[in-house]
Amino acid sequence: MDLPSNILTLLGVMLGLTLGSFLNVVIMRFPSQLYFQWQKECRDYLDIENQGDIRKSPNIIFPRSHCFSCKANLSFVQNIPILSFVALRGRCAHCAAIISPQYPVVETLGAIATTIALLNFGLTFPAAGAMIFSYCLIVLGFIDLREKLLPDEITLPLLWLGLIINIEGTFASLEASVIGAIFGYLILWSLFWTFKLVTGKEGMGYGDFKFLAALGAWLGWQMLPLVLLMASSMALFAGVIGIISKRLDRGETIAFGPYLAIAGYLVFYLGQNAIEVYLRLSNF
Ligand SMILES: [Zn+2]
Repeated sequence: MDLPSNILTLLGVMLGLTLGSFLNVVIMRFPSQLYFQWQKECRDYLDIENQGDIRKSPNIIFPRSHCFSCKANLSFVQNIPILSFVALRGRCAHCAAIISPQYPVVETLGAIATTIALLNFGLTFPAAGAMIFSYCLIVLGFIDLREKLLPDEITLPLLWLGLIINIEGTFASLEASVIGAIFGYLILWSLFWTFKLVTGKEGMGYGDFKFLAALGAWLGWQMLPLVLLMASSMALFAGVIGIISKRLDRGETIAFGPYLAIAGYLVFYLGQNAIEVYLRLSNF
């Protein structure tokens, strides 16, 4: 359906802000839900009784949105994305605890990603694909940043979805997509083992391999070198800044997921152009 771009923009911003606040909930609650499950599985496996600490499993839907400091529930108005953050000047209305700037940041990213998807593809099936892709990247990037964890529960469905969506060659040919998934995993897997055998240290996690495999499935194998180049330059840059500003100890690892997410997103929209420009330049 052809809609004028101002209507698509409005739609994108409204939809994106709403979904963005849901993405925040996933980012904040999904990891603790996973830790809870893993602890329970370990206890069950080792046949250990639950030692008095019978908490309810945290859940994406319940409890309602509340302040992390004083646990006061948020009213409907206080749940409105960005506007409520601005109106409250970033503090809880009940206890004045500082609200993490992550909330408005993720909501804004959600709005931008949704609008870009709609403006690029219109109200189409590929636009829905581009949105889901962007949302997964936002969630994975922020969870990895906070917890140094890229959950299989997100990376693996993202991988499958990339393969399925490219059956019709939506964003890459099916062949490029399948090879991309395989090579995405293998490149980082072999780097990991080379690094580990040489230095005895682990520089990455298996989540990174699965994430790059998913990016390969969505973008096609041709884009993987560009993704890796961009992600590792950004990670290197951030690492150097971190060491200079003493916020990062030497030898401490940084989460690679956020950089894979940024690079994957940029290459999704700009990759084809970047490669064409490169080929044209290298012909001179
Ligand atoms: Zn509070």
